[in-house]
Amino acid sequence: MQAPSVGGVMLPRGNGETVRLSRGASLTDFAEKINANPASLVAVMMNLGEMVTATQSVSDETLQILAGEMNYTVQIVSPEEEDRELLESFDIEFGEDEGGEEFLVARPPVVTVMGHVDHGKTRLLDAIRKTNVVAGEAGGITQHIGAYQVSTEVNEEERRITFIDTPGHEAFTAMRARGAKSTDIAILVVAANDGVMPQTIEALNHAKAADVPIVVAVNKIDVEGADPTKVRGQLTEYGLVAEEYGGDTMFVDISAKQGLNIENLLEAVVLTADAALDLRANPEQDAQGIAIESHLDRGRGAVSTVLVQRGTLRIGDTMVVGDAYGRVRAMLDDKGNNVEEATPSTPVLVLGLTNVPGAGDNFLVVDEDRTARQIAEKRAARERNAAFAKRTRRVSLEDLDKVLKAGEVQQLNLIIKGDASGSVEALESSLLQLDVGEEVDIRVLHRGVGAVTESDIDLATGSDAIVIGFNVRAAGRATQMAEREGVDVRYYSVIYQAIEEIEAALKGMLKPEYEEVELGTAEIREVFRSSKLGNIAGVLIRSGEVRRNTKARLIRDGKVVAENLNIEGLRRFKDDVTEIREGFEGGINLGNFNDIKVDDVIATYEMREKPRG
Ligand code: GDP
Repeated sequence: MQAPSVGGVMLPRGNGETVRLSRGASLTDFAEKINANPASLVAVMMNLGEMVTATQSVSDETLQILAGEMNYTVQIVSPEEEDRELLESFDIEFGEDEGGEEFLVARPPVVTVMGHVDHGKTRLLDAIRKTNVVAGEAGGITQHIGAYQVSTEVNEEERRITFIDTPGHEAFTAMRARGAKSTDIAILVVAANDGVMPQTIEALNHAKAADVPIVVAVNKIDVEGADPTKVRGQLTEYGLVAEEYGGDTMFVDISAKQGLNIENLLEAVVLTADAALDLRANPEQDAQGIAIESHLDRGRGAVSTVLVQRGTLRIGDTMVVGDAYGRVRAMLDDKGNNVEEATPSTPVLVLGLTNVPGAGDNFLVVDEDRTARQIAEKRAARERNAAFAKRTRRVSLEDLDKVLKAGEVQQLNLIIKGDASGSVEALESSLLQLDVGEEVDIRVLHRGVGAVTESDIDLATGSDAIVIGFNVRAAGRATQMAEREGVDVRYYSVIYQAIEEIEAALKGMLKPEYEEVELGTAEIREVFRSSKLGNIAGVLIRSGEVRRNTKARLIRDGKVVAENLNIEGLRRFKDDVTEIREGFEGGINLGNFNDIKVDDVIATYEMREKPRG
């Protein structure tokens, strides 16, 4: 059978077999799997009308189309699956409780507070924290570690609830997008004076998609014009029907400001958990869970708040968190107390990691330091590879000009962070005043005082922006994230240096302008006729130099009589030469052009890129 071809390119051809590729793989990765030449896959893509380089990371869809064309089936492996396989290779299973039913013990629910902006999420989290000083608990100063645990009495029983202390569904969604399920129950906060708003619906949809039961906190009932009944009516349309109307969603009217009915809300959370969920975990196994929030602490190094989901985490345990690892040196609870161990659903701040993990990274305790290191290193390597694949697609100052020439961007997006609002504004206005011609726009997407954060990098990633840090550095995982996403982050401490560098990059970014530069003139002294070459001009070089393969025009009596000629042949005596300088004689052949006369002048020139001033 003849090998199939597309446009003359021989195709590797499969028999429908399945090829596993990680998300964001390149044609080279694909070629490796099927033992083909990457160039042939590039050619196939070209024939399908897509220009793709061999090492560029391509979309799932592109991989599928390419595979279909060659009669393979592609199975895209998500990063989560890859990670599961990595852990399996160490004989570790993540996400399942070890042992059977008999090992499972009840654990507190983990709650996220969501809702429209300004409806009182932050205020509610504060109110819950305050109303709930566990009796007899040694009260240190409350620490913001990203999560806290409170206790409440329900049916004369003490029950605990863990709250994730970052309001809003962004954190929730970001974690879920990474396959980390952190939340058991969502409290949906709706201000009774404002009613259901767009982000209320958004939050509701996120909770539903994650299959997380919802308790509705109808807030701000102290405000005049508050209409809790209306909120119940509105939410009915979205499938949340209050218990008192025959539905199964608990609605609690509260005032976060006045601390009204907070206990009732906590009770509703516990009752909802009891009714809808079976929250149990094995506390006896090696601890597993997720990282909620992490940062680099000046005195303590990398610190990370982790939520234990199963097992018990103890001081001295060896743990891997994302691509960080280490031995637990110390643990602090949300009151700043040192603790020896943390059981399921307990958040603790962990000290002793090699570096700062990301929000939503999973953590697990392993038996040996070596295993922890190997898992962390493999994950880091995978991230680097993914970053490498992605990097080529982002804009950086170095490649601005290339990207622009390719017509990919016409505007430079910037995010400016600085140490003081004065310096940020000064930098912004100077940058906006840069005169860079009409082809390129500078747009400042975001400015602010403070460190370069993960959310800055997020924004830059989504809009191909360059981040400028003036007298500030990156915080938390921003640096790793920027590396992973290929975002160019530039740090400056002198304003004019920042301006100079951006200006220079922008000048490269502009489409080049060309100008004509005269190279030399030659006066025709004699015309030789050659049967083979046509007319040859015997010349004296009057100025500059004449070079072979440059452009020329012919001037007769001070007037241009022919344009766009080529110096095709150049000779001195019998030798072909590449150039003849001023004051020397030689022969010039203008190719097909034969209309030359004695005393004509041949002026040669070339087009040069004009430097921008
Ligand atoms: P978030 O954006 O959802 O976190 O909302 P905040 O917690 O920041 O609250 C927004 C504003 O509403 C703040 O000025 C709060 O003080 C106010 N607020 C929150 N809860 C109540 C409440 O129960 N009653 C009143 N009157 N104001 C409240």
